[in-house]
Amino acid sequence: MSYRKQQRYRKSSGKCRRRRRKSRKTCARLPAALIGTVLILLLCGRVILGGGIGGITGQAVGSQAVAAAGADTVPGQEAGRAEQAWNLVLVNPWNPMPENYEPELTYLRNGQAVDSRCYPDLQQMMDDCRAAGLDPLICASYRTMEKQEALFEDKEARLIREGWADDDAETEAAKTVAVPGTSEHQLGLALDIVDMGYQQLDTQQENTPVQKWLMANSWKYGFILRYPTGKSDITGIIYEPWHYRYVGREAAAEMYEDKLCLEEYLGIN
Ligand SMILES: [Zn+2]
Repeated sequence: MSYRKQQRYRKSSGKCRRRRRKSRKTCARLPAALIGTVLILLLCGRVILGGGIGGITGQAVGSQAVAAAGADTVPGQEAGRAEQAWNLVLVNPWNPMPENYEPELTYLRNGQAVDSRCYPDLQQMMDDCRAAGLDPLICASYRTMEKQEALFEDKEARLIREGWADDDAETEAAKTVAVPGTSEHQLGLALDIVDMGYQQLDTQQENTPVQKWLMANSWKYGFILRYPTGKSDITGIIYEPWHYRYVGREAAAEMYEDKLCLEEYLGIN
């Protein structure tokens, strides 16, 4: 072995020895480091898993206080509805959104957002649905007035392109897209949830494993199928086997048991 090679060998083996000594020191510290890492991972896991909503991308990434919506009652409610609890606010074609209603939102990772107060129950429902081996996807949630206006105008324009007269197009559009100001989605308490394997918003959605599970279990988490079949005259909205509304666990259990829609439960129909 040449001198240079020997020097290199000594240097490198010296490094190795030093590294080994160092690693023994590291080994001595390892239990403490491992415990710390495991604790951090557990905490992170809790945060990540805890936000598992919104289909594959669903995760809460923070909440934004748009405005305080009041703890128990709804600001801006007209007389007669003033005592209505936040989770039972009725919004339908005959009962528009309370004025200046701005819920505090929790955002999901895929851009969806819900009223922060229903988020824990929603999280639990989605976690349990997935634990049952299913693949739910939240495809719509909170909408601003502007978003609802855009959806409505889009639908109207499509109908006019198909040959409908302006006035008729508006009436027709209102059958499938809520008139701005009358959509529950503006409350942040309504969600459209579909099966990842079938994402069409049509009546066939009711046959998907996700809908079967949600229809049987959502009430346990405070959610009701808001526009059930056979209740369109009362709700003003066609059968939508994908639209769920948070009303709280107690109300949802009663409504599920007695097969009531929200209007019937509130005695407003
Ligand atoms: Zn909906």
